[in-house]
Amino acid sequence: MKAAVVSEFKGALEIKDIPRPTVKAKDILVKIHACGVCHTDLHACHGDWPVKPKMPLVPGHEGVGEVVEVGSEVHHLKLGDRVGIPWLYSACGHCDYCLDGKETLCLDQHNAGYSVDGSYAEYCLAHADYAIKIPEGLTYVDAAPLFCAGVTTYKALKVTDVKPGQWVAIIGAGGLGHLAIQYAVAMGMNVIAVDTGAEKLELAKTLGARHCIDFKKQSPSEAIIELTPGGVHGVVCTAVSQPAFKEAYRSVRRGGACVLVGLPPDEMPIPIFDTVLNGVKVIGSIVGTRKDLQECLQFAADGKVKAITEVKHLEDINEVFADMEKGEITGRIVMAMND
Ligand code: NAD
Ligand code: ZN
Ligand code: ZN
Repeated sequence: MKAAVVSEFKGALEIKDIPRPTVKAKDILVKIHACGVCHTDLHACHGDWPVKPKMPLVPGHEGVGEVVEVGSEVHHLKLGDRVGIPWLYSACGHCDYCLDGKETLCLDQHNAGYSVDGSYAEYCLAHADYAIKIPEGLTYVDAAPLFCAGVTTYKALKVTDVKPGQWVAIIGAGGLGHLAIQYAVAMGMNVIAVDTGAEKLELAKTLGARHCIDFKKQSPSEAIIELTPGGVHGVVCTAVSQPAFKEAYRSVRRGGACVLVGLPPDEMPIPIFDTVLNGVKVIGSIVGTRKDLQECLQFAADGKVKAITEVKHLEDINEVFADMEKGEITGRIVMAMND
């Protein structure tokens, strides 16, 4: 099968012919029709984070397609089912976190396109218990970005605990952020979006942001505090930039929540005095559970959220990564496979 493979950190991806994976008892094999390109894939290929991915690696954790093989112990999925393979490739299912509905914190988890090969390929293996069905009415291209960008931002917004009618700021309106804006609007929140460039900010406005701030033209936190005296009730920071996290922290009102989602490899210095006196919550949020994923897919199936996508192919991946590094992508790039 054809796959995009990275063999060394910071090396280019190569299109290779590699063996189709073999299905074990609890697996399914998915013929991939589309896979979104997440900034996490770029971090993986660059070895940016303290925990390193397998190498060589087939990246990709927004892969969607049809089930073409089913393991002997799989009874809830059948040939032809439309499914996606998220970042949470598998978890142990038995630890405190798994039992407590916090499976994304399981210490014994695998991650698609990181610790196991992912969906930048014509076929991808999935653990049947963690592959999620795509609801009727969603195309593969529309569904793919929801398997990471969608579920991650939907969950992060839940974590802010911002109520309908209250204000949330979305810092970074890229692949994740443009979906965060839509989920926030659908959840009844008032949205302020922060990014740069007319194209992204106009898109943010079209998607329902009440105010858009260009971080290259003004200080986002100062602008946000002017727009919402005291600051916003919650902020979700998806930007791959340490200064953006400082701005996010400074934008939150007393008692509000600053939810960290973007993963630049830096530290985030936080003033202890202000955090204590202001009762501000600083919370990390990692993807979402299978339940979160089902809910976030349903929002899209109901027409409340729609990923803005541009379709490319496996052969384009190095160019896509270069554009992503420069911040030149609006919405999400989705690679079409087997079409
Ligand atoms: P992206 O490149 O599509 O979007 C990032 C956006 O941030 C871009 O639009 C860029 O212009 C903007 N930006 C850069 N600097 C900024 C600043 N100072 N202020 C405001 N905006 C700024 O990337 P993506 O796919 O949306 O991923 C974003 C980050 O989220 C990555 O680090 C990725 O690894 C991480 N991520 C985390 C999770 C999680 O579960 N926590 C899940 C998926 C992705
Ligand atoms: Zn577990
Ligand atoms: Zn991702």
